[in-house]
Amino acid sequence: NALLVAEDLHKRFGATPALDGASVTVGAGEIVAVMGPSGSGKSTLLHCLAGIITPDSGTVSYRGQPLSSLSDSRRSALRRGEFGFVFQFGQLVPELTCLENVALPMRLDGAKRRDAERRAAEWLARLEIDDVAKKRPGEVSGGQGQRVAVARALVTGARVVFADEPTGALDSLNGERVMRLFTAAARDSGAAVVLVTHEPRVAAYSDREIVVRDGRALDLERAR
Ligand code: ADP
Ligand code: ADP
Repeated sequence: NALLVAEDLHKRFGATPALDGASVTVGAGEIVAVMGPSGSGKSTLLHCLAGIITPDSGTVSYRGQPLSSLSDSRRSALRRGEFGFVFQFGQLVPELTCLENVALPMRLDGAKRRDAERRAAEWLARLEIDDVAKKRPGEVSGGQGQRVAVARALVTGARVVFADEPTGALDSLNGERVMRLFTAAARDSGAAVVLVTHEPRVAAYSDREIVVRDGRALDLERAR
């Protein structure tokens, strides 16, 4: 049932080793937290899994297919079609309303405005932020903005959502609310989540924890 498999990844930035033999498996629909100290290689691991950067050695396979065997255009098509992304600061388009931000990936895929915005509105409701539809990202709270980013990541039917410190800019109460709604929405749509965080309270929403230390990944089954 493995969706994403990384084997023995090595990556250096100049003389700095960022990954030094990291291996990770993510199952379909699984919510995996990637923990570990600052500088241990978490973001690099996430970027390799998402095909944003190429490891120096080792392989990343999605549904059994090595990402390195795909052309650049196939790889970006995969990222658009199957992967979603949520970062620490939502990275919403400031000129668009929140509704238009969520509708944007569907519009880029050629959906009609009406259809895209109707589906976007359903996702805003699911994340309990119907009221921000007409506001621009600069007019909503941090927690609301991150929920808009979650909606935008899931709306196209992504199979894997990569989240890098998605609650890092929020206080713990809002962070937990975002994680509760994020994980519920991911479970509803059957998407796997790879979540980089250093906050144990955020990691507690995952099915499994991977601890990265000195560029190596240690897989810990969550005792539940
Ligand atoms: P984490 O996400 O756990 O904080 P990173 O994956 O960001 O760790 O970084 C791992 C190591 O690689 C660190 O020593 C970091 O300074 C280095 N590194 C990461 N990205 C780059 C880069 N683009 N250029 C140079 N060094 C980098
Ligand atoms: P959340 O719990 O989702 O983070 P808050 O309770 O912080 O939301 O915010 C409640 C209301 O205050 C929202 O309707 C939002 O529009 C407004 N608000 C909060 N923070 C900001 C901000 N930085 N700029 C503009 N409006 C904000």
